[in-house]
Amino acid sequence: MEIAEKKGKLFIISGPSGTGKGTICKALLERNDIDISVSMTTRTPREGEIHGVSYYFATREEFEQTIAEGGFLEYADVFGNYYGTPKAMVVEKLQQGRDVILEIDVQGAIDAKKVYPESILIFILPPSLKELRARIEGRGTETEEVINLRLSKALEEMSYIDKYDYFVVNDIIDDAIIRTEAIMHAEHGRVVPEDVKYILDKYKEEEKCYTHQ
Ligand code: ADP
Ligand code: 5GP
Repeated sequence: MEIAEKKGKLFIISGPSGTGKGTICKALLERNDIDISVSMTTRTPREGEIHGVSYYFATREEFEQTIAEGGFLEYADVFGNYYGTPKAMVVEKLQQGRDVILEIDVQGAIDAKKVYPESILIFILPPSLKELRARIEGRGTETEEVINLRLSKALEEMSYIDKYDYFVVNDIIDDAIIRTEAIMHAEHGRVVPEDVKYILDKYKEEEKCYTHQ
């Protein structure tokens, strides 16, 4: 008998810009059978970013139209641009029993948890602010002005850690990936009332077969 949970789990990953969220999420996708939500944003694409893969790049008008249609699970203004999670794909995947990752900012994570209380919030911390600056500068995708804006918000973002379920310090990348995966595996063993009924029903079904043999 296979004991599978009914619905997929929604893992929400946040942390200051440059802390390594994207790097960790990429590894999680390569190593596990999970999906990631592609957000919509009004930010300008960076070199190498692909529409529909990195983000759905949209104008402010298109974004506001999607807000008006109720198309977002959550959205927020982050560093002066809109970012939002299209609702349909996430809901569909979870219903299919697939795990979904959202890589979103703290405001979005807190809003998403209100809409979907079963979601699991994971905060990725840098080993130090000095290393955070080195990483964001080393990535070489932002201007000095944007880097300073993002770094100035880092401590404020970290102050929301008490709203999260878990934290992972991304010092050595392989350790951070393993820790994040460990959290995800542990969450699949969490006793959730809705899932317990589903699991017990499976045993009850099996018992019926036994007694009729
Ligand atoms: P975020 O998605 O949080 O903005 P990225 O994943 O883009 O951050 O990482 C920022 C930069 O830091 C990238 O150049 C990435 O290769 C590098 N990086 C990520 N994790 C580590 C780590 N543990 N040690 C050193 N460099 C890292
Ligand atoms: P970046 O511009 O570096 O790709 O992302 C900037 C910030 O926006 C990051 O903190 C990232 O997690 C967040 N972000 C990306 N997509 C979404 C989203 O759909 N919703 C929210 N609220 N934040 C997002």
